[in-house]
Amino acid sequence: MCGIFGIMGHPEAANLTYLGLYALQHRGQESAGIASSDGEVITFHKEMGLVADIFSEDVLSRLPGHMAIGHVRYSTTGSSELKNAQPFVVDFESGSIAVAHNGNLVNAHTLKQELEVGGSIFQSTMDTEVIVHLIARSRRERIEERIVDALTQVRGAYSLLFLTRDKLIAVRDPHGIRPLALGKIKGGYVVCSESCALDLIDGELVRDVEPGEMVVIGERGLTSAHPFFPAPPHFCVFEYVYFARPDSIMGGVTVYEVRKRLGRRLAKERPAEADIIIPVPDSGVPAAIGYSEASGIPFEMGLIRNHYVGRTFIEPQQSIRHFGVKIKLNAVRGVVKGKRVVVVDDSIVRGTTGRKIIKMIRAAGAREVHVRISSPPTSFPCYYGIDTPHRRDLIAATHSLDEINTYLTSDSLGYLSLDGLHACVPKMEKGYCDSCFSGSYPVPLDVQETEEQLPLFRGSVRV
Ligand code: 5GP
Ligand code: MG
Repeated sequence: MCGIFGIMGHPEAANLTYLGLYALQHRGQESAGIASSDGEVITFHKEMGLVADIFSEDVLSRLPGHMAIGHVRYSTTGSSELKNAQPFVVDFESGSIAVAHNGNLVNAHTLKQELEVGGSIFQSTMDTEVIVHLIARSRRERIEERIVDALTQVRGAYSLLFLTRDKLIAVRDPHGIRPLALGKIKGGYVVCSESCALDLIDGELVRDVEPGEMVVIGERGLTSAHPFFPAPPHFCVFEYVYFARPDSIMGGVTVYEVRKRLGRRLAKERPAEADIIIPVPDSGVPAAIGYSEASGIPFEMGLIRNHYVGRTFIEPQQSIRHFGVKIKLNAVRGVVKGKRVVVVDDSIVRGTTGRKIIKMIRAAGAREVHVRISSPPTSFPCYYGIDTPHRRDLIAATHSLDEINTYLTSDSLGYLSLDGLHACVPKMEKGYCDSCFSGSYPVPLDVQETEEQLPLFRGSVRV
């Protein structure tokens, strides 16, 4: 997963990009970068780490210009190291170009091999670099045409921002798998992964960039084109379930509202006899509110999250039970003691967090613990840019509902149905990608890609 942000027409473009990336930090915490242009030269800075740690006033002052793009990275292909940080900036015969990509290509290995046979030398292990090579090799003249030429050869998920000396170009893949929003600021335009980035800079959401749309923003304003063969849209339903920030608007609806609907529907499909509903914060909160509303059972914050958890800890030599989860979450004894508790979370991936949380809630005195999940069982890995582990590590891929319930040590377990999920997301004439739940992959995969995706899910600060 990644977050991208681009801006045109503001004297402090790099500064606003920094703020935009700050609002998109949940989409990637490994590395961040900004490239800016003053109309003549592209300058850039990227580092491993969090946005707030990388960009000081000093660094930002060395990124001049009225246009910029930025990126926060959570790698799904290519290892986690600086050479794979973005924006990716290169010089070629028609000038410099910077690229920021959210998504994952499914034929990158095949294309890369072909390019290497043809003499190309790659600097990174990112799939995004393949796009840059294809642009550089295109025989077309204008940069827009070169980009289209390159993108008609790749398959998969891409929301892309390109920065040239004097243009900001945004493209969303024909299936529209990853999000991309178009916004306005005084004097210019913004294109970003989620609308929450617009709110922070007093921007205004105009609309989503459409699947297959290319938006070109130059000195003389904005033009839009649909240069690719139309394809059925497949927006990632997991953005609504977990990934996006609840205050973002996608498909015309606030993500928070969708999550609440999921919770209400879950209460109807999988009721429980209980005294309180508690969320696994933060991601389970809106669904738990919805579950509480629909069931009439009071909502309580029975788990408290520490918001200052870093990546690594110095663990005491004598081991503490469930240390990894305890450092992030703690049960509130006074809330759960003696109660029949429903714990609501958005998804179960490997099941390790859930199991520990349940033990924690029981240790705090709960009488019964029922688990309710506001999405269907996650049984298939994502190849379009969401960080999921190998299929064998997805607990729902290899275990029945009863077996998962036994593993979690819960008194009961209930998931939302796939139909229920589809009933809660905006009714677009557009379809969704729900491959993580259904196993139906809308963009055909090269065999190699399914094998070479990273052994991921290294556990981040999100819960
Ligand atoms: P588990 O312990 O089952 O592997 O993880 C479940 C938790 O991971 C849930 O609380 C859910 O909110 C969170 N989660 C779901 N998808 C992702 C993801 O793609 N990345 C990260 N870091 N967490 C996720
Ligand atoms: Mg969570």
